[in-house]
Amino acid sequence: MIPAKAIACPDSASPLGPIAIERLDPGPRDVVIDIQYCGICHSDLHVGKNELGRTRYPFVPGHEIVGVVASVGADVTRHKVGDRVGVGCMVDSDRTCHECRRGEEQFCANMVGTYGGIDKAGRPTMGGYSDKIVVDEHFVLRIPEALSMAEAAPLLCAGITTWSPLKTWEAGPGKKVGVVGLGGLGHMAVKLAAALGAEVTVLSTSDRKKADALAMGAHDFLITTDAEAMKAAAMRFDLIINTVSAPADVNRLIQLLARDGTMVMLGLAAEPLPVFSLALLSRRRRLAGSPIGGIRETQEMLDFCAEHGIASDIEVIRPDQINEAWARIEKSDVRYRFVIDMAGL
Ligand code: NAP
Ligand code: ZN
Repeated sequence: MIPAKAIACPDSASPLGPIAIERLDPGPRDVVIDIQYCGICHSDLHVGKNELGRTRYPFVPGHEIVGVVASVGADVTRHKVGDRVGVGCMVDSDRTCHECRRGEEQFCANMVGTYGGIDKAGRPTMGGYSDKIVVDEHFVLRIPEALSMAEAAPLLCAGITTWSPLKTWEAGPGKKVGVVGLGGLGHMAVKLAAALGAEVTVLSTSDRKKADALAMGAHDFLITTDAEAMKAAAMRFDLIINTVSAPADVNRLIQLLARDGTMVMLGLAAEPLPVFSLALLSRRRRLAGSPIGGIRETQEMLDFCAEHGIASDIEVIRPDQINEAWARIEKSDVRYRFVIDMAGL
């Protein structure tokens, strides 16, 4: 076992604090990574607070990991010592099923989450709020030289989770895309959709983030509590990327979809949402969902970001500021991703 430092939730209600953990000894295909930065995703909070009812404690969050390769197993071919690498929401899958062969490991029945999964020794997997991690080379991404490490960290979840539906539903020139909620996922959706050539509108709960949204490439900004503006935007969007992290009304948003438009739900609200079928059927609209993305498309997204000068807008914090950052995320007070500098561990 390799000793590592980490920050964990001891239970669903107490503050996070330091903990000593052990990473598995690397196998022949494993890469040992010295973690430099880890982004804070709202999913860390949902799981840390046991909102989905399945969390095992102590829980080490974090699935937006970047760092440098410290050592590699004998059969590793993709990465070498010193490489700049990243790890997202997955650390393993069976690699043999239909989904894995298609490069969509996120749908593999045996996919192992970076946290919330079970490792090869039968223990809960521990995430990236830590100084080290050991991961199969297949799940280790290359961070292009053009990207800053800290600004690249959020791409490993917020980036790929918005990139995948934008590609699936073909956001691009001539398409009108709405992005609901300007947080970590939302701000990446805006930048990526704009770079893909779509016309992007941000839908937010207040005007506080309007200037930022326009600077990120949004063409328009709607306040969702402004009934008149919402009415005027009826049937406007081909695609809505909904990143709201709490249970919130979706029917008003469905009305904004054009005929055959799709709203993709990315938020992990634990409670079911009431949906009026008339709003869907009257314009043959679709309500969809999308989980993270595959390894191949994650690398594609990282390379696209490097090519287009896209990165996350971040606030770098020390490990002892994580509890404060979590409290601010709960108030939607984040511009637009907290990233933990692990040098302070
Ligand atoms: P975040 O940074 O906290 O952003 C969420 C945004 O939603 C907020 O900034 C806010 O935007 C809006 N919002 C929050 N509460 C709201 C409410 N009650 N009503 C209306 N709008 C509200 O969160 P995130 O990290 O982007 O994650 C967003 C959601 O996606 C979370 O539920 C997370 O767990 C989930 N997620 C899913 C996947 C996946 O695979 N599908 C992957 C990662 C994360 P405004 O201030 O602009 O209103
Ligand atoms: Zn995430």
